[in-house]
Amino acid sequence: MLFESVVALALALSASAKPVPSPIDVIKRDHVAGIVINKCAKPGVLTLAYDDGPYQYTSSLVDTLNNAGVKGTFFLTGTLYGCIYNQRAAVKKAYDSGHQIASHTWTHPHVGSLGAAQIRSEMERVEQAFVNIFGRKPQYVRPPYLETGGQFLGVMRELNYTVVTNDVDAGDWNNQSPQQSQQRFQQAGAAGDGHIPLMHETYQGTVTTLTSWLIAWARSNNLQIVTVAECLNDAEGAYKPGTFEGNGQTTC
Ligand SMILES: [Zn+2]
Repeated sequence: MLFESVVALALALSASAKPVPSPIDVIKRDHVAGIVINKCAKPGVLTLAYDDGPYQYTSSLVDTLNNAGVKGTFFLTGTLYGCIYNQRAAVKKAYDSGHQIASHTWTHPHVGSLGAAQIRSEMERVEQAFVNIFGRKPQYVRPPYLETGGQFLGVMRELNYTVVTNDVDAGDWNNQSPQQSQQRFQQAGAAGDGHIPLMHETYQGTVTTLTSWLIAWARSNNLQIVTVAECLNDAEGAYKPGTFEGNGQTTC
């Protein structure tokens, strides 16, 4: 009886000593698919997440990140700023350099008002382009306009995608200067779980001024700049399992 009580107590203690894992901590694909993630799962990190490329600055942005020894995350579209194949060298360079390449849909539509078949097509066309350029399919998606309504999350669950939004908005899309964007990061602060910012590689001020400032800001606050997957303890899960053969397509 006493022994049983001690065992029961020990079991209770060991159970209570373990924090209940959040879906992000567990990060098993079937647990997180279709859930919206807006910040990192741990402190001490910062992500640099860029939407809407590839574009004319992609290659130089990759160089900047590489020279600083940090990893960025690129949420790419197929056609928003020209056909993705026109920038295939820059996309391949970003992938080969270890940056995370993720989906931002093919045409950048308002996914909240699309039917399931259209949403599937938006995702699969990006997958095919990524396969053609670097042989992998993305695991992560950021919906355009951060829209997660309508059929979107249901289709993301079906397609087993990890959905990411943001917790800091640089506001570059809304005419905020790099200096105004910097204030937003300072207000958000360096403490707590790492930030996943909304920024756009289509604005020169973001690619040059803001990015350099964020790299320095991270250093002065002892934050490691990592990919979104890494900040979710999911470094191995940035892409869907396996590699794929391209279909030879080179135009949109
Ligand atoms: Zn966008």
